[in-house]
Formats: sequence, C-alpha cells, structure tokens
Amino acid sequence: MAWARKCIARSSLLTKHICRLPGRQVQQCIWAREWHGFGIRHHDEMRRWLPSFTNTRWNHASGVEPAEKLNPSFIIEQLSSDNDNKVLKVTWSDGSVSRYNTSWLRMNCQCSACKQPDSGQTLVTVTDFPAQLTIHSSSHQHNSSSIAINFNEESNHQCTLPVSWLKQHSYSPADLEVKARLRDVKYLDSAIGSFRCEDVRNSEGDLFEWLDHLNTFGITILKNVPVCPESVTKVANMIGPVTETLYGHTFDVQTEDKPINVAYSSVGLGFHVDLAYYESPPGLQLLHCLQFDDMVLGGESIFLDGFCIAEEFREKFPHHFETLTRVPATFQKFHFERANPAAYIYQRPHINVNRTGQITAVTWSPPFEGPLAVPEEDVEPYYEAYREFSTQLETSNKVVSYRLQQGDCVIFNNRRIFHGRMQFQQNGGVRHLKGCYVNIDDFRSKVQYLHEKRGLGQLAKRVGNQCMF
Ligand SMILES: [Zn+2]
Repeated sequence: MAWARKCIARSSLLTKHICRLPGRQVQQCIWAREWHGFGIRHHDEMRRWLPSFTNTRWNHASGVEPAEKLNPSFIIEQLSSDNDNKVLKVTWSDGSVSRYNTSWLRMNCQCSACKQPDSGQTLVTVTDFPAQLTIHSSSHQHNSSSIAINFNEESNHQCTLPVSWLKQHSYSPADLEVKARLRDVKYLDSAIGSFRCEDVRNSEGDLFEWLDHLNTFGITILKNVPVCPESVTKVANMIGPVTETLYGHTFDVQTEDKPINVAYSSVGLGFHVDLAYYESPPGLQLLHCLQFDDMVLGGESIFLDGFCIAEEFREKFPHHFETLTRVPATFQKFHFERANPAAYIYQRPHINVNRTGQITAVTWSPPFEGPLAVPEEDVEPYYEAYREFSTQLETSNKVVSYRLQQGDCVIFNNRRIFHGRMQFQQNGGVRHLKGCYVNIDDFRSKVQYLHEKRGLGQLAKRVGNQCMF
C-alpha cells in the first residue's frame, strides 16, 4: 500500500526535521543532531587512543617495545633448530612449543626493510630470498621484545620478529585449536537479545556489547529506534557503510500492487538468505519497523540459525551433509521487466567448510534456485540431501518467531541466520519495514577492532563469509 511521507526541514535538515506518518501524529525528530554528535565524539576518542594502540598491538616496526606486560606464556624458555635447520623451535615458559618454518619466518620478517612501518604492508616477496633457507643462528636477549635469526643463504639480512607477535601468530596445533575455538559462535535457540538504541548510540561500551552479541548469536533487536525513514541508515552507519544492491540503497518491505519481489506482498516467506545469487551476498540485514498496526493479522518475523541447523544436519546425516558441501547449487535472479534489469547467476554449495571441517558458510534460498548444473551422478544425491535438509528446517524446534513493534530494528547476519515471515492479512492496517544491508567484512572488522581496542584477547566469531579460519 502506498503511503505518503513528508519531511519538513526547519532550522536545518540535519538538526531537526519532522516526519509525518499516515494515521499517526506528527513526530518531531531531533535524532539527526544526536547521531551526528555521537559520530564526532566517537571520532575524537579514536584519535586519542589510536597512535598508542597502533604501536603496541600491531608492532609493525622492529625493536618497538610492546607497552603491555608480556603474558607469561609469551616468555621464551628456549630457541633451537630442527628438521636440518629448516624449522625454528620455540619453547615457551609454560612448556608449550611452537615450530616455525624458515620460509614463513623470512616472509614475516618485521624489520623496516621488510614491513613498511606505517602501513604494515609487506615489502618483500618470496622470490626476493633463496628457497630452502636454513638457520645459521637464532638469538633472543633476555628482556628483549624480539628475536633475531640469521640464515646461511642470506648473509646480508637479519630476520627480526617481536616475541609477542610470534606467539600471537603461532601455528602449532594447540594454538590453531585455541584460535578456532575463539571463533566459535553460540547458537540462536531462544529469545533474541535486545538493546536500546539510545544506549548503543551514546556509549561505546554499549555499542561493543551490542555488536559482540550480534557477532556471537547472529541476531539482535535494537529497541526505540526513532520512527523516521532515515533511521535504518543511521543504525547501519554505526557499523559500516550501507551496501547498495539491485534493490537500492535502502528498501521498503510493504505490500505493493506489482511486487518485484515476493517480499513486497503479504504472502508468507519460507526460510532463506537474501541475494544468494551474488558472489558476496549482503552481510548484515537491518529491518526497521516503521509501522505495524495491531489489526494486521500475522506477519511475524521468523529466524533460524543456519550454522546450528547445518551442524545438526551433519550429525544426523553425515553423507547428505557431505553432498551439500560438495555439489554446487545454482542461485539466480533473472528479471528484465524492472527498472534495473537483473541477470544474476551464481553457483555455490549450500554449506561450506574449512580444512578442519568447521562450517564457514550456509546458503539457503529456494525461491532463487536455478537449474542444477552438475554431472548426472550428483543430481539424485543432491536432491536426497536437499529434501532432508529442507525437512529439517521445516521441523526444527529452534525457530525463533518475533512480531516487530514500531521502533524495533532487527539486525541479523544474512550469511548465517535464515529468515522468513508468516503470511499476513492487512485487515485495514499497515505493515511497513525499511531495510538496508551492511557488508559482512566491515562488520567483522568493526567487532575485531573493538576487541583489540579493549585488549580482551578475543577474536571475532565466524560470520559465514567462507573465510577459512
Ligand atoms: Zn627483514
């Protein structure tokens, strides 16, 4: 249903405007100024701490003393060579051992000739040094923050690596396991965590709590978001820039006479992720409820954790699970009779896993599946697996249902959380959501950055972007 909206600027569009919503009182919104103010404070605060943070945590330049006290497990007990001097063996004070190959050490030299101090970018390439480097000597002075390594085949260069950096990037089986566990999410299986807009807007601590929860569980609801058409973009911009798609910068989910997407009608929507036919489907999806009248029957939003469902599927049907990680489905959007004609097609499996089998992505979007295009022997196994997975979605007891209220903004990870909605009858009322997307890498970066800033020793969780960690 079309509805009129009118924004009247008073003293300044940025500082004060009025939103007129149909059937509602005129609402004065002074949010723009407040949002803007927060941005300035936030920026100033960042400038204050950023220089010291850069020098201590990332330690690009050689010889820079880390400001923080070394963790006991960062203290080196012994350095030795192994495997015909092709491996440096570091024994830490807690008894753990890390092994580093010479090629890895050389490529990661942190001296200023090999790493640009300001950008942290690598200046050396693998062809700049001989293959099969062997260790001539390695040394670590007591109380020094770095170790030095000389290679037999390269007399004009000393490899320098900060001890804390070396430990942080250890690829011993134990350390890889610790880091893998730190990236594990917690499954959504009950109520959705909610936060208040005014809190996350005014406190970086609350902003962090909100984003960390979103990263961990894949979904949150922000309450009390001002009922203005611009609000969803402002919520998004607390995380990163809005991702524009073929549906525009933002989009309105409300019933239309000739919908270009089934979402813009009143029919029910089964579980899916958006824009699976993109190489990089949108990361976070934000849906801000501008109006949801009480008389509207149905229309609840439904969510299901794709990571959780896929993991349960692996336990119950390992053979089918393997099929869905191996046989690529086709996702497509062909629609020429629209303002910007669409001819998108992408082939990907429904489930991706990394080298150790952890799930790194789930993709489910039945309305946008195109013809399967795989060898004949894969076709029936695919449909058998697909049928079981589909049944599991339909019968899952982990579905979370929520009826959005005016002012709610639900934010969820579109690369992980399957979403849908119950069909509804307008019954004389209006259901109107305004949505937009934020890139998943921008989100993950923001979460990791806030972790680093707070010195929590945590890693951002897996976000479903097929990253192999
Ligand atoms: Zn170097």
